[in-house]
Amino acid sequence: MSERKLAFLYSPEVEALSYPPDCPFKTQRAGCTRLRLLSFGLLGGENSFEFEPRRATIAELKRFHTAHYLEEMQRAADGDLTVDGLRMGFGGTDTPVFKNMFECGAWGCGVGLAGAELLLDGRADIAFNLLGGFHHAFTDRASGFCYLNDVVLACMKLADAGKRVLYLDLDAHHGDGVQSAFYGRKDVMTISLHESGKTLFPWGGFEDEIGEGAGRGYNINIPLPAETYDEAFLTALDSVAVPLAEDFKPDALVLELGMDILAGDPLTHLRMTNNVVVEIVERVLKLNCPILVAGGGGYHIDNTVRGWALAWRTFCGENDDCDYALGMGGVMLANSEWAGGLRDRVLPISAGQRAAVEPELRATIEKISNNIFPLHGLKAPAAGREARPAKFA
Ligand SMILES: [Zn+2]
Repeated sequence: MSERKLAFLYSPEVEALSYPPDCPFKTQRAGCTRLRLLSFGLLGGENSFEFEPRRATIAELKRFHTAHYLEEMQRAADGDLTVDGLRMGFGGTDTPVFKNMFECGAWGCGVGLAGAELLLDGRADIAFNLLGGFHHAFTDRASGFCYLNDVVLACMKLADAGKRVLYLDLDAHHGDGVQSAFYGRKDVMTISLHESGKTLFPWGGFEDEIGEGAGRGYNINIPLPAETYDEAFLTALDSVAVPLAEDFKPDALVLELGMDILAGDPLTHLRMTNNVVVEIVERVLKLNCPILVAGGGGYHIDNTVRGWALAWRTFCGENDDCDYALGMGGVMLANSEWAGGLRDRVLPISAGQRAAVEPELRATIEKISNNIFPLHGLKAPAAGREARPAKFA
């Protein structure tokens, strides 16, 4: 166990504020992860503690959202959906109107703010908000299961305290709401790796969206082709995200760790295994700054829970020796049927998959390097050079 202090922010109250049953977004994932961690003996004690969060106040929500939007959202939750409310996105297929929508969103934001506060006052080095990660919410628009943007508010809280904030979004979907919040700022750098907008909602987040004005070069999008696998994902991470993140030298990191990147997710088309989670954690720890982890997407519930539990365990400094021993007895039929431990088995990569992913990804990396690196005084990798090899295949 490391000396890092980890805080798991959780409230059973929020779990009770669930989305409608037919909605794929399940708030219960946080509680399931908590139970998994408790059963593994990874939660409890001085350096790995639970923390009771709070709900965000209206004044806090107004730091990003308009007063009119907040009013319309509360009105819609009370059963009065107006034309303005419809225009703001309430009542869409993936933004259903439900009784607890405002409370649920306000709690998600409160958890994120409480996590940022723990980092700011030094009570935690790593804070987990698996009840948040609502990166699609705009200042006055709901989108993609997101109503109130906890990650924007947490980044703002940290930036308001004078911190240089890195927002690293590894959810399968582009973090469009967060991009919109910080597009003209350079004190908050946003890096989003996501399935390309050519094949996935929210249909944007392309590599030429690089920020504007003072923020030019501080908004980085790394679109990944459908079928992207571990090795290709890590190449993108290591070729673009890691050098830019290291050069930025953040005082704080907000990490959106959506588990809809995992193979088997019913809403996306990426093919990663949760082995990348361990690699991600190892890399962000090298930034040597406090980290707020936000949950985000993940629609295969068991895969999502195992991925988050694996992230927590890695942040704790625990390895997976016993996992493999347990896993050997498992029936290895599919990614989600790995019977023992937290790690996925390594998935084979077909020649067709490589051919579909590699050329497109290489071109994307080259374009980003050529456009963004010089803005930071960094040397773009020479054209045609093989990207840094991943640590494992
Ligand atoms: Zn997502």
